Amino acid sequence: MSKDQKNEREYQRETRLIHGKFHSPHWDYKDHMVPPMSSSAAYRLESAERGAQGFIEFANPQYDRHKEPPILIYDRLEEPSRSMLEDNLAEVEEGDCAVCFATGMAAISAALGVLLKTGDTLIAHHTLYGCTYSLLTRWLPRYGINVKMVDLKDPSILEKEIDKTARAIYLETPTNPTLELIDIGAVRHAVDKANAQREPSSRIFVVVDNTFATPYCQRPLVLGADVVCHSLTKNIGGFGTDMGGAWIGPSSLESDVLMYRKDFGAPLSSKSAWPPLVYGLPTLALRTRRQMETAMKVARFLEGHPAVASVRYPGLPSHPQHQLARKQMLDADGVFAPGIMLYFVLKGSPEEAREAGRKIMNHIASHALSLTLAVSLGNIRTLIEHPASMTHAPLPVAAQLEAGIDPGGIRISIGLEAPQDIMGDLEEAFSTVK
Ligand SMILES: *Cc1c(COP(=O)(O)O)cnc(C)c1O
Repeated sequence: MSKDQKNEREYQRETRLIHGKFHSPHWDYKDHMVPPMSSSAAYRLESAERGAQGFIEFANPQYDRHKEPPILIYDRLEEPSRSMLEDNLAEVEEGDCAVCFATGMAAISAALGVLLKTGDTLIAHHTLYGCTYSLLTRWLPRYGINVKMVDLKDPSILEKEIDKTARAIYLETPTNPTLELIDIGAVRHAVDKANAQREPSSRIFVVVDNTFATPYCQRPLVLGADVVCHSLTKNIGGFGTDMGGAWIGPSSLESDVLMYRKDFGAPLSSKSAWPPLVYGLPTLALRTRRQMETAMKVARFLEGHPAVASVRYPGLPSHPQHQLARKQMLDADGVFAPGIMLYFVLKGSPEEAREAGRKIMNHIASHALSLTLAVSLGNIRTLIEHPASMTHAPLPVAAQLEAGIDPGGIRISIGLEAPQDIMGDLEEAFSTVK
């Protein structure tokens, strides 16, 4: 069977992560083994008519940019390296299409920007990535969008909270930094019930930030989400060289998201699309498998350590939602895939634990090779941070506790180092606060 007659989906996920599509309409690069990095802000048009046709076709659902080569006009509209990445991201998330942005925050702003208008209500889980929380509480209300923060760990809360104005549900699972899980299928179920009473034009959409799990460990669109957002800066990029963001969702929203990106700006640059396309996605499976193996070892090590009060890792049977993790965090073969993020809390009173955390961070910063004190996550390097003495340091201990920030809580994003080195560096740092 020739390549033209074959469907890429006959191949394993891992193979497709490396090869993408047999043929890309975005660039005929059949002689290149590596997709080219294009670099052209504007494109030569062979006639005025072709320019006019390009504007007619852009973001027009009658023209399928995934099948026919688009007329290239200007980078902010459509760009070949980025479009190739978008097609591969749509594949791995099992969505209709993807649109990439300069950062994860730009993708999240667009996802919400196309769904919400003045007078609408957004219902979000109360624990969110810091800048997303800020977007929802500082900016959306300025545009007359009502934001309700609730605990979606109990999705039955949606029956109470969804009113006529509700238009979107937003959540992360696992949550940052505490690694709580939300049952995406149960949220879908509650939203379907509400949507059954509505006109299609006022239906409620479910948006999930899948940055922590990555499509290797969880496919929210299959579990019931309408839209997935990613920070490509994290796991999918994987090497920490570039920032990027992705929106993945149904074709019915694609035009709006492309138009939004054209008018609000912040498209992913071709130079930043290239590393996730060439290095990030093709190594995602290999990196994630190794990182999960190490995460499990480190989680067990922490669980048995006298300096540690508790450990949160979806792979540990002690995780309060371990059964839910086993249901929704699965790789493409259905194998349990609990991710690469860990959270643990140091022993001691809140004041003691915060001080111990600060000392451990400083010891690691000056003594550890295998652990890097840094924000961000999903890197080949193991990254560690202590929110109570870093991002939330200005808050007094009592205010931290009230905001759900455990003064002794530490987050680790597992990298590719030898597991015994990671545990050795942790052990050494713990020994400084005995
Ligand atoms: C980092 C991150 C973001 C924001 O992504 P940027 O690329 O930094 O804009 C959003 N959500 C989660 C869960 C993140 O970790």
